[in-house]
Amino acid sequence: MTEIIDGNEVAAEIRSDLSTAVDQLRAAGVEPCFGTILMSPDPAAETYVSMKQNDCEEVGIETRDVELTTDEPAEKLFAAIDEFNEDPDVHGILVQSPTPEHVDEEAVLERIDPRKDVDGFHPENVGKLVAGTPRFKPCTPHGIQKLLAHTGIDTEGKDAVVVGRSRIVGKPMANLFIRKEEGGNATTTVCHSRTENLAEKTQNADILVVAAGRPEFVDGSMVGDGAVVIDVGINRVDADTEKGYELVGDVAFESAKEKASAITPVPGGVGPMTRAMLLYNVIKAAGQQEDVDVDLP
Ligand code: NDP
Repeated sequence: MTEIIDGNEVAAEIRSDLSTAVDQLRAAGVEPCFGTILMSPDPAAETYVSMKQNDCEEVGIETRDVELTTDEPAEKLFAAIDEFNEDPDVHGILVQSPTPEHVDEEAVLERIDPRKDVDGFHPENVGKLVAGTPRFKPCTPHGIQKLLAHTGIDTEGKDAVVVGRSRIVGKPMANLFIRKEEGGNATTTVCHSRTENLAEKTQNADILVVAAGRPEFVDGSMVGDGAVVIDVGINRVDADTEKGYELVGDVAFESAKEKASAITPVPGGVGPMTRAMLLYNVIKAAGQQEDVDVDLP
């Protein structure tokens, strides 16, 4: 029987533990606070920000919100970041991507105070992750580590194959898998669009993480017997549903399930974990900035 890894269930457990961590901050007189900045041409960005704010409120994190229209100058966005950077009551900052074309996305990442960079994308935080001393683990790969741990899957000595080398998923996932710590110590291969004989690599994986952004791209023929398959992809494809589309992963679920020992569904696998780990980083940031010890799950 293939285990279907329930991300909603694990994320709910983590959120419950995080509420306790918020109580510890409050007992020390600290109100954790998350500042979001929305300036995006993508209509879905507004939904993403409000989902993150609702998640925060659910565990007791305050939110501040700045909304800018896409025709405003980049300086306005930088000024909003500076204001959050300088406000000691704001512990974590997120600028929802994508930003408009006239805004330099790299400059945005570099503008955020690295101590408040709860996405973990500031070059200083990327450097710390690569050096093996992460300040904030990026949310999606951290969530995957937690998902594996909760499912009782040990990564040590395993062959992990990551398909995708993006800044937000593939690269940090590989960095976490090779760390000398629990949830790491895996022998890690990173594949990308120039990889030759991809199936040969994926078939060899004990743990296969797919983040390619291509609907149902990895099927059962690319999965080794008994592998653990983590599907990061979230793709909208046309479908005969009320909304006119459905969400599918980067893995062809039914055929991969035939081969896998455990697999994440889409939706309900990695997605809820990413959201939970953002809360984790905000609470961690608040503890660090206010010098309060908090028990993180
Ligand atoms: P990117 O588009 O930034 O990166 C995709 C990666 O996949 C690239 O490294 C690319 O290679 C590689 N790739 C593309 N095609 C192939 C191929 N044919 N063979 C091998 N590798 C290939 O995507 P993201 O990492 O941002 O996201 C990936 C997916 O995960 C998306 O569906 C996204 O929506 C989803 N996602 C889900 C999250 C969640 O919480 N569940 C969070 C973040 C993302 P190259 O570098 O050579 O171009």
